[in-house]
Amino acid sequence: MSQQPGTSGLIFNEPQLWDKSRKGRCAMSLPKLDVERVELDKTLTGDPPDLPQLFELDVVRHYTRLSQWNFGVDSGMYPLGSCTMKYNPKTNEVQAARQGFASAHPLSGDEFSQGALELMFNLEQYLAQITGFDAVTLQPAAGAHGELAGMLMIHAYHAKNGKQRSKILIPDTAHGTNPASATLCGYESINIKSGPDGILEPGTIAAVMDEDTAGIMVTNPNTVGFFESNIKKIAEIVHSKGGLVYGDGANMNAIMGIVKPGEIGIDVLHLNLHKTFSTPHGGGGPGSGPVAVVKALEPFLPIPRIKKELDTYKFITDCQDTIGRIHTYYGHFGIMVRAYSYILSMGAKGLEDASKLAVLNANYVKESLKGTLNLPYDKPCMHECVFNDKFQNKYHITTMDMAKRLLDYGFHPPTVYFPLVVDGAFMVEPTETESKEYIDQFIHAVKAIAKEAKTNPEKLKKAPHLTKVTRLDEVSAARKPCLCG
Ligand SMILES: *Cc1c(COP(=O)(O)O)cnc(C)c1O
Repeated sequence: MSQQPGTSGLIFNEPQLWDKSRKGRCAMSLPKLDVERVELDKTLTGDPPDLPQLFELDVVRHYTRLSQWNFGVDSGMYPLGSCTMKYNPKTNEVQAARQGFASAHPLSGDEFSQGALELMFNLEQYLAQITGFDAVTLQPAAGAHGELAGMLMIHAYHAKNGKQRSKILIPDTAHGTNPASATLCGYESINIKSGPDGILEPGTIAAVMDEDTAGIMVTNPNTVGFFESNIKKIAEIVHSKGGLVYGDGANMNAIMGIVKPGEIGIDVLHLNLHKTFSTPHGGGGPGSGPVAVVKALEPFLPIPRIKKELDTYKFITDCQDTIGRIHTYYGHFGIMVRAYSYILSMGAKGLEDASKLAVLNANYVKESLKGTLNLPYDKPCMHECVFNDKFQNKYHITTMDMAKRLLDYGFHPPTVYFPLVVDGAFMVEPTETESKEYIDQFIHAVKAIAKEAKTNPEKLKKAPHLTKVTRLDEVSAARKPCLCG
């Protein structure tokens, strides 16, 4: 335990700012009033807000302490499966904060925004090259928003071809946002069961694909951490009935420079710049979910689109078949700058190496923990591996108990109870940026916890023990978010 990063020293209690407020305290000193005092019209200003009265040092300490309670990838390992919580190099933050980018205003117009437009144009080209598609939009604000944009394009494609379809195939290993996006487009989701080895079987698709089915939404690599190796055959079956293949590319971190989704039968794919391409995330945004498409879907891309004419870049909006605008202006520009900086600084070889390392690290975790936790699918994985609590259930210990205990060892817990196809799932995504030492500490912690499940299950059931607060009622915390206790 002494080797673990978790600690409990020097953690302060932190009351609310209002509790520390003392009448008359103030964080600034203004020069003495040298003009006549005038009362403001109360009917215009209303009552002054009830703000706490504090010294500057009160405020600085308050927020600095709160920031120390926070946990992020910059403070420790964050092996949250399906989220790619990798370290984001600070150079990408520096580029996004450059004044020319940070203070660019969308209403400046194309003429005064040439640098920003050029960056976006080039980023579209890079993403097209990385994914193997013909055209890209950077507008969607998140992965799920990219899915919606992509599904709207599939919807528009079928409408244009004269006959709308009513259903969409969604495997049981798809991300939960997939059926939600399909439903928003008016499609009925048909749940498809994966085979015994965690991937789709072409026969299952052939049995249900018909001419009233708009297509399939495949998460690849899927949420159990496997590459859908029958994807080409599946795409052929879907295409033969006039359907389209939507690829959820949020797991691109496993396959950059190795597989181009545009070359294996996928027609439209979204990426998560905030997962794969270096933007800190987990705090609720902003994100960016660009969508890449094949030629046949290009006319449906959202407007505005960026065009290059001679050496000038401009936005165009006169695209007859477009699904229209899906974001104000052109999406979250700051995230695009980070992704552009990341791609340029990594280079093609660097991106490929990142994916290979992400896969190697996940397989190392899988092999190291496979006797400790039950491994429902014992075969090589991609960038994440899924265990469950079957071995621990006989001591009445669950995935939740183990996840909570990991907090005492200084680790953010992995993803729990997802994907749904694995009972009691415990899903680990170490990412390429963790060193062997950190990963070994994590493995050591999980092994110690599994041992405790046998020797002291009562203690484990009450974990965490070293955190500021111990086990919380999560349902109430979500339903009644009251911060005053
Ligand atoms: C994260 C994720 C999404 C959703 O992305 P958001 O940016 O959170 O909307 C969709 N699919 C997969 C596979 C993901 O991992």
